[in-house]
Amino acid sequence: EEKKMALAFDEFGRPFIILKEQEQKSRLRGLDAQKANISAGKAVARILRTSLGPKGMDKILQSPDGDVTIYIQPGSHNDNVDHNFHILGAYSAPDALDELAAVQVDGSVPNMQRLVSAEGVFCNAIYDSYPQTNDGATILEQMDVDNQIAKLMVELSRSQDYEIGDGTTGVVVLAGALLEQAERLLEHGIHPIRVAEGYEMASRIAVEHLVHVAQKFDFDETNIEPLVQTCMTTLSSKIVNRCKRSLAEIAVKAVLAVADLERKDVNLDLIKVEGKVGGKLEDTELIYGIVVDKDMSHPQMPKQIENAKIAILTCPFEPPKPKTKHKVDIDTVEKFQTLRQQEQNYFDDMVQKCKDIGATLVICQWGFDDEANHLLMHRNLPAVRWVGGVELELIAIATGGRIVPRFQELTPEKLGKAGLVREKSFGTTKDRILYIERCANSRAVTIFIRGVAKGIPSGIRLVLAFDDALGNKMMIEETKRSLHDALCVARNLIHNNSIVYGGGSAEISCSIAVEAAADRYPGVEQYAIRAFADALDSIPMALAENSGLQPIETLSAVKSQQIKENNPWCGIDCNDVGTNDMREQNVFETLIGKQQQVLLATQVVKMILKIDDVISPLDY
Ligand code: ADP
Repeated sequence: EEKKMALAFDEFGRPFIILKEQEQKSRLRGLDAQKANISAGKAVARILRTSLGPKGMDKILQSPDGDVTIYIQPGSHNDNVDHNFHILGAYSAPDALDELAAVQVDGSVPNMQRLVSAEGVFCNAIYDSYPQTNDGATILEQMDVDNQIAKLMVELSRSQDYEIGDGTTGVVVLAGALLEQAERLLEHGIHPIRVAEGYEMASRIAVEHLVHVAQKFDFDETNIEPLVQTCMTTLSSKIVNRCKRSLAEIAVKAVLAVADLERKDVNLDLIKVEGKVGGKLEDTELIYGIVVDKDMSHPQMPKQIENAKIAILTCPFEPPKPKTKHKVDIDTVEKFQTLRQQEQNYFDDMVQKCKDIGATLVICQWGFDDEANHLLMHRNLPAVRWVGGVELELIAIATGGRIVPRFQELTPEKLGKAGLVREKSFGTTKDRILYIERCANSRAVTIFIRGVAKGIPSGIRLVLAFDDALGNKMMIEETKRSLHDALCVARNLIHNNSIVYGGGSAEISCSIAVEAAADRYPGVEQYAIRAFADALDSIPMALAENSGLQPIETLSAVKSQQIKENNPWCGIDCNDVGTNDMREQNVFETLIGKQQQVLLATQVVKMILKIDDVISPLDY
């Protein structure tokens, strides 16, 4: 049955699914159709299962012959790079490669890594740029899924991302488990519609039960620590884990800066997340304003302007050049100097006009020559040149200024205002960036992400070994995604401050409740309801498995602990902290996020169960 489907990789190393049936058979009906669909959905879920949780695997590596695909993750994200990688799971990887002893670089093949185990066994792996993430929505996004059901699963993850922003892996893993259980029931002759109905009832029980195990989560503007802790939980399962504390603080402060706490409303559009390659991830910062990737036009211009009044120009900031300049007869030195003087005077007037209306900074879409630049410096009018149209618009909105398309139209009212404009340079690099802060007209904040520089010891370095620029850029992209999740979590909590505990504890508690409820249903549905309870267990099982724990033993121990101690907060101790009370571990998720996972997963699985006619493209 499983053999009908294969996971394959295209020339870019992106995984895709081949449904072998479709090669031969063009149409499937009834139970065959449902079983084929279930298989497709399960295959997608299986790919994501290994990346669930704090020990979830980060990357997919592929060997040159395309055979050995190894998922690896930076071990404990600490500083000891080379010994930090262990292979957690593999598709047909040599068994002996359980523990990775070293990563060698083979310079003869681009992107080639040689993974060496403690026993000296090695295999080659070409690292691949996709999907360099453990974010469920992203992995699925990158997959070339050519199957309607698999696409539905991708949609599922996207919906969770869209509505909640977190839990995108978990929702797919849960749907996969529901499908697996459904398959079992269908084999026992239970009709798909009965299964769908039973699932529906069970999901309502679970969603309701979540409310009972939920707690209110208290925070206010003076005590943001609880919010920070929550965002840290989200970030702890991401590649940026190393900086989770500072990134979580940034996310919370950003959200609070744009939040309307009275109306419990947060407009995430006001938070711009920008990234620039170079520097350390630790240098990522929150700016109460905007950043522009430009510098002052002259190195001797002031690096800091307080209470800046900004002229924003889309017209050239220079004397008009005669269009037929080359035909102007400059036959004497005197004539040349007169012309030059005229030009200088003209520009001097322009500068004076800016100063007269009160501008202390000019930001231009166009450039100006060295001479003009020198003059600006001398007349003490700082300027920034070659600023893109989009950035100009952003500056205008934030500073409450107006874009001026013709120099004559410059008036005091059109100047933008910012409490502080400063140019910041980064370490030894020549990179300089303009910060426009405490802007007049906007609560907009910017999170400015720095990439990982070469030689920074971190788990990520393996990926950066060959192409730092590429690795850095991806690191920034990954950080953006992770921050997005953290921002969403903070927003969700401001919106609704109920939480449930993580580490699979909420799922286990729901599983117990749903199982107990099944007895109340005399009909066939009770089997589907029990199956739903079993599917909920797959989340803690996946968390345990990904952390190297025995899944079944761990689950049953935690479950009986929950029942015995009447404690719904027991979950999987993924990081071997020493307690599985998730309250003590501070591992929690939002109630609405968890409810949404259950609802969405159920909805998609019901949909899949109701499709009983599959026509492959061969028919057309
Ligand atoms: P998703 O994309 O679904 O958010 P993640 O890979 O972020 O997937 O994993 C989230 C799961 O990991 C949740 O079930 C969460 O409760 C669990 N989790 C996160 N951190 C911990 C931790 N420190 N200990 C145990 N479980 C954790």
